[in-house]
Amino acid sequence: MKRVSIFGATGSIGQNTIDLIARAPQDYQVVALTGGSNITRLAADARALGAEIAVTAHEDLRAPLMQALEGSGVEVAAGPAALLEAASRPADWIMSAIVGAAGLAPGLKAIEQGGTLALANKESLVTAGPLVLETARRHGTTLLPVDSEHSAVFQALRGEEMSAVERIVITASGGAFRDWTREQMARATPDEAAKHPNWDMGQRITIDSASMFNKALEIIETKEFFGCAPDQIEVLVHPESLVHALVGFTDGALMAHVGSSDMRHAIGYALHWPERRALPVERLDLARVGQLNFRAPDEARYPALRLAREVMAAGGLTGAVFNAAKERALDGFLDGRIGFLQMAEVVEEVLTRLSSECGLTNAALTLDTVAQTDQIARKTADTIMAERQA
Ligand code: NAD
Ligand code: MG
Repeated sequence: MKRVSIFGATGSIGQNTIDLIARAPQDYQVVALTGGSNITRLAADARALGAEIAVTAHEDLRAPLMQALEGSGVEVAAGPAALLEAASRPADWIMSAIVGAAGLAPGLKAIEQGGTLALANKESLVTAGPLVLETARRHGTTLLPVDSEHSAVFQALRGEEMSAVERIVITASGGAFRDWTREQMARATPDEAAKHPNWDMGQRITIDSASMFNKALEIIETKEFFGCAPDQIEVLVHPESLVHALVGFTDGALMAHVGSSDMRHAIGYALHWPERRALPVERLDLARVGQLNFRAPDEARYPALRLAREVMAAGGLTGAVFNAAKERALDGFLDGRIGFLQMAEVVEEVLTRLSSECGLTNAALTLDTVAQTDQIARKTADTIMAERQA
């Protein structure tokens, strides 16, 4: 039996992970499940899977969670410290699927155990890539990517040497506003941005897909995870979302990963790795699909892509600034403080202000410096948004 824990169990990735585990209950012993405010979901899954412990990130939801799990034998805990404690409980396989920078600390704690960490929380690599990789190396932990593009690259690279890789191409659907003009995008509402043409994902990543901030994070994630140079990474708009990534080798060959837009591909690959096992995903009928389309991304429409390149060039704590400013700007868009296109403007302004103020590039990367930088970037984003409203 594989001992598994799922951080962010109530979210989109968490629920897809539970779907796979619940199909073969005899193979898994569930250690910890964690969630946020959806206590009902968390309690139901913890009961059904017989989890050892259920943790909500919110202290004030401890009592309702205890009530929901009364008589189940499932231990209950709440708050950030409880998340860390749950991450330090022995498990063979841990899914890191909390959304945002909040996933970094529990993810690092889980890495210290030395098992396998399935990494959906791309923000960990964007904010603290070298720290995450170094911690994994020190503890002999296997990191497996759970992003459709990065799982695709990982699979295309199997059995290959990185020295034979010329380029890595990650695809982008183009999100909800693929065919909208800048004028239309300027007036877009959160509801419109949260409708993805191909993927069913959490609200935040779906809006990040429409602004291409998700792809911006993924470019950085690619650089960190695979250790390639920024100019080896390309983004290709592919409206069908069936080719997830391509790896180009020195002999000119391109290896593409093709599959339905279902995150259970990437999750299942990480769950069973190094084996490949049957998964309950749709089999593609390419004759019926008929056409696959590709086009270059328009960087003028999507400044997030340019910003990602600037962040990689600067390095150090710049990724933590970028991610935190992006998270805050997204909050600002969601609560109506700024428009859709202003998210990139706010992020760029935060990067400009902070890069001249503090030595982001040379500072040591630790959990503390990343957390401090994250806080400063959030405050700066709030200040900029308030100035714009005034
Ligand atoms: P989601 O919003 O659906 O779920 C997020 C989970 O994190 C929930 O369980 C929520 O309760 C928990 N959470 C939120 N804030 C928290 C906090 N402050 N502390 C502790 N827990 C908190 O998000 P998602 O779409 O499942 O995405 C999860 C991660 O996976 C993100 O990093 C995202 O970029 C990445 N990812 C998602 C997909 C996808 O298809 N959804 C694809 C690739 C990568
Ligand atoms: Mg992705």
